[in-house]
Amino acid sequence: MKNKRKPKVKVNPRAKSSRKVKAKSAVTTATKPGSKRKPRIKPAKHERIKTKLIANAGAKPRAKEVLILGAGLVGSLLSIYLAKRGYKVTIYERRPDMRKTEISAGRSINLALSDRGWRGLQGVGIEKAIRKISIPMHGRMIHGMDKTLTFQPYAEKGQSIYAASRGVLNAEMMTKAEEHGVTILFNEKCIAVDLKNKSAWFENQEDTSSFSVETDLIFGADGAFSVARLHMQLNSDRFEYSQSYLDHGYKELLIPAGHNNSFLLEKNALHIWPRGGYMLIALPNLDGSFTCTLFFPYKGKDSFESISNRKQCLNFFERVFPDVVPLMPGLLDDFFSNPTGSLVTVKCFPWTLEDKACLIGDAAHALVPFYGQGMNCGFEDCTVLNSLMKKHKDDWSKILPEFERSRKPNADAIADLAVMNFFEMRDKVGQPEFLLRKKIEAHIHKKHPKQWLPLYSQVTFSHIPYSEALKSGLKQEKIMDEVMKMNNIKQKWNSAEVEKFILSRI
Ligand SMILES: Cc1cc2nc3c(=O)[nH]c(=O)nc-3n(C[C@H](O)[C@H](O)[C@H](O)COP(=O)(O)OP(=O)(O)OC[C@H]3O[C@@H](n4cnc5c(N)ncnc54)[C@H](O)[C@@H]3O)c2cc1C
Repeated sequence: MKNKRKPKVKVNPRAKSSRKVKAKSAVTTATKPGSKRKPRIKPAKHERIKTKLIANAGAKPRAKEVLILGAGLVGSLLSIYLAKRGYKVTIYERRPDMRKTEISAGRSINLALSDRGWRGLQGVGIEKAIRKISIPMHGRMIHGMDKTLTFQPYAEKGQSIYAASRGVLNAEMMTKAEEHGVTILFNEKCIAVDLKNKSAWFENQEDTSSFSVETDLIFGADGAFSVARLHMQLNSDRFEYSQSYLDHGYKELLIPAGHNNSFLLEKNALHIWPRGGYMLIALPNLDGSFTCTLFFPYKGKDSFESISNRKQCLNFFERVFPDVVPLMPGLLDDFFSNPTGSLVTVKCFPWTLEDKACLIGDAAHALVPFYGQGMNCGFEDCTVLNSLMKKHKDDWSKILPEFERSRKPNADAIADLAVMNFFEMRDKVGQPEFLLRKKIEAHIHKKHPKQWLPLYSQVTFSHIPYSEALKSGLKQEKIMDEVMKMNNIKQKWNSAEVEKFILSRI
C-alpha cells in the first residue's frame, strides 16, 4: 500500500481505513521523548497519527484508545480483556505475522501452562480453545545416567501442567484477539515512547519508514528487553532496575516423532535429565515430537565453550545423555545451528506512570524459566488488572497504582523462586533424599491438606499470591531440613512421630 500524502502530513499507511485516524501537521516537528534534539527520524519520513477518543454508545465508560506494544503472549491476552471492556485496542508488533511466516528453528520453545495461566485464559473465554492445543503432563520423568526412569507425579490426581508450543499458542491468541476487534499491526518496531505525552514512535521493518502515534493509554508488553521499560527508566526520577543473568544459557534440540506420529518418550510427562551443574528437559508436542532444552553453562569443563566441534558434542551426549542420542538424529546440526539463548531476571519499579502507561508481563518482570511461570505470571497480571478495572470502574488513576502495588511483591517472589528451582531441577530431583522429602510432604498434605500444601503446588496449582507461597515455602523448607535429620527417617517417614513433629512446627 502506498503512503497517502496530505500537505505536510503523512498518515500511517498500515492503519486500517476504518480506524478513526487523524493526522496533524504540527507533529512533523516533534522530537524524540526525553531529548531536546531533533528526532533522528527525518521529517520527510515522519508520520504521526492522532488517535481519537471514541465515544462508546453503550452504558460503559467512554472508550479509550489503548496502544499495546508487543503481540506476544501477554500483549495478546491483555488486548482481549481490554477489548471486552469496550476499549479500542491496537497492538504494534515488531515481528511479521507468525501465522504467515515460519518460526525459525531453535525458537519454537514450548511452554508449561498451569493454573494461573488457565485462569487468565478462562477470564476471556478462550481456555477451551487453548486446551485443544496443549498436552497434559502429570509429573516429571527423571532420566538417570544409567538410563533408569523414575516418575514423580506433580501433585494429586487430576492436577497437571500443560505443554503448549509458544508459536501455536501465540498465533491462536492473536486470532482470538482479532476476533474480539483488536487491530494488530505487524512489522512495526517501537523505537521510542513518550510516556508522559502518551505517544510512541515506530519504524516499519519492511520499508524502514517511521511514524508516531498518540493514544490515551500505553501498555508495554514488549518482553524482557522492553523499549517501554527503557523509556520509563529514562523518564523516572528514581527508577529501580536490576538485571541479572545466569551463568547458563539454553539451546533448543528436538526429538522427532516416531512412526505414525508416535511419541518416543512417555507423552504425558515433563522429561528431565538432571546432571548436577546442568540439565536437559523435554516437553511433548502435538505432532509426536518433543522440544528439548539444554540448560548448560557458558564456560567450564562441560559447557558451550568446551564443545566446539561435532565429535566433542557427540562424545559429550553419549557420555551424559546416552538414552537421548539415538532419539535425536538432528542433534549435531541442531546443536551448532540453533542459537544459544540467555537467561535473565529483570526486576524494576515503578511499572506505571500516572494514568498513562503501564509495563506488563516480561517487560515488568522477566523470570528465568525454571518454575514455568513467566507466562503464567503475565497472564495473572491480566486477571488482576481486569478485576481492578471492574473495582475502579475504569478509573486508570486508581487502577494503575493499585496494580503495581499488588503485583510487584509477587513478581519479585516468583523471580526468586524461579532461580531457586533451577538448583532443585538440575541437582536435587534425581537424588533419593529429595524423593523421600517429597514423599513425606505428599503424605502430610494428604492427611492435613489445609495445613500443608507443598510449595510446588502453591505456585503451580493454586492462586495463592507468589509472595505468600515463597514465605510459606521457606518455612516448610526449614521444617523439612529438620525432619530429614531425624534418626532413621527412611524407616519412619510416615510415622506418627514425624507427623506430630511437622504439625508442631507449622
Ligand atoms: C526457554 C524458556 C522457557 C520458558 N518456559 C516457560 C514455561 O514453561 N511457562 C511459562 O509460564 N513461561 C515460560 N517462559 C517464559 C515466557 O516465555 C515469558 O514469560 C512470556 O513469553 C512473556 O510474555 P510477554 O508477552 O510478556 O513477552 P514476549 O512473549 O517476549 O512477547 C513480547 C512481544 O513484544 C514484541 N516486541 C519486542 N520489542 C518490541 C518493540 N520494540 N516494538 C514492538 N514489539 C516488540 C516481541 O516481538 C514479542 O512478540 C519461558 C521462557 C524461556 C526463555
